[in-house]
Amino acid sequence: MIGAGIAGAACCLRLTQLGFRPLWVAPEETLRDKPGELLSAAARPLLAALGAEGLLAKGTHRPAHGMFSAWGSDRLTERSSIVHLEGPQTVLDRMGFERGLNGLAEASGPVRLAEQLTGCAPAENGWLLDVAGRKMTCELAIDASGRKAVLARDRATRFRADRLAALYGFLDQDPASDVTPTPATLVEAVPDGWFYATCLADGRLALNFYTDADLMREASGGREPAWEAVLSTSVSVRRWIDEAGFLLPDKPLLASAATTWLAPCAGANWLAVGDAATAFDPLSSHGMTSALWSGLQGAEAAAASLTGDPLASDIYAERVARGVQEFLIGRRRIYAQETRFADSPFWQRRQQPKETVPA
Ligand SMILES: Cc1cc2nc3c(=O)[nH]c(=O)nc-3n(C[C@H](O)[C@H](O)[C@H](O)COP(=O)(O)OP(=O)(O)OC[C@H]3O[C@@H](n4cnc5c(N)ncnc54)[C@H](O)[C@@H]3O)c2cc1C
Repeated sequence: MIGAGIAGAACCLRLTQLGFRPLWVAPEETLRDKPGELLSAAARPLLAALGAEGLLAKGTHRPAHGMFSAWGSDRLTERSSIVHLEGPQTVLDRMGFERGLNGLAEASGPVRLAEQLTGCAPAENGWLLDVAGRKMTCELAIDASGRKAVLARDRATRFRADRLAALYGFLDQDPASDVTPTPATLVEAVPDGWFYATCLADGRLALNFYTDADLMREASGGREPAWEAVLSTSVSVRRWIDEAGFLLPDKPLLASAATTWLAPCAGANWLAVGDAATAFDPLSSHGMTSALWSGLQGAEAAAASLTGDPLASDIYAERVARGVQEFLIGRRRIYAQETRFADSPFWQRRQQPKETVPA
């Protein structure tokens, strides 16, 4: 089992619940912050199945009741999650949540190596792994190493639907400001892409701007990305930042946010879970839930394979592939709601999507 993100921790925890003692190649997280904190309500039953629902009760998260969007119209529309039967989304303290899930997985009793996988090769009865110079073997490998897919990327074809990239940052409020920021989430479409901003429970503003990698330079005024230039096309997010007195950090950070997937995402003695299998455009706020789901399902498929079920991996891969198709249909529907920027390449690409291509 490779990787200590949400997918890796969920998968490890499920394997130990099923009576296995996996080798977990799980380096410590070194980031202070990771982008992505809006957890879908659909994650709750998955966390309950892992015995981890208590992680959401911590006061460092907040329910995402107030959702505003300027999408398809200049007017800001409120969408209250109080009216949703499945309950509200949660704005996570992302690092606290990951640490909590990791702690539960570690306490469940795997053999944990807090190191990177530095090499892997198929061997007679499974895999030969190189973990920071230590050689070891395993019968079945689960790749939960995120978008890198360090083991699975050479076993299947990676497809991509777009080249979405994210600029992100976490903004502190000016201590001199006497405004209490609204605990809300705001999505705003602009000609070159879209903004997402949410107020975290600790009072900071998580700010993301999404555009295609090749449009990033243009969107940021032909220079290295700088928040001032990027925000020049925003009305609502800009106003929120100004009125609440959030301070723009020097430089935005950059991450890939493209929709990519492996096909197939499982074989006879390997499978991929989380972003290693399917990495989705964050517009859906589905990545973490999908990481939990595939972590659970992947563990069950691995357990069935190891106990002699020859079809378990294929069934898992088919379910993931179906999920990708459903996601692509939903993604197209949401982007089609924005028709104000018909001349812009970013929106044209999403309104007349080409066939998906191997990456
Ligand atoms: C800008 C942005 C915003 C997002 N916003 C949201 C959001 O609001 N809501 C949402 O649900 N999702 C969001 N997502 C998606 C979500 O963050 C991911 O889907 C989720 O983190 C996937 O979890 P994972 O465990 O598969 O991968 P990761 O979180 O990438 O974890 C991978 C793990 O593998 C480890 N690893 C890598 N290489 C090796 C190696 N060689 N050896 C051992 N370990 C290795 C890493 O250290 C890490 O622990 C967002 C993503 C981005 C980029």
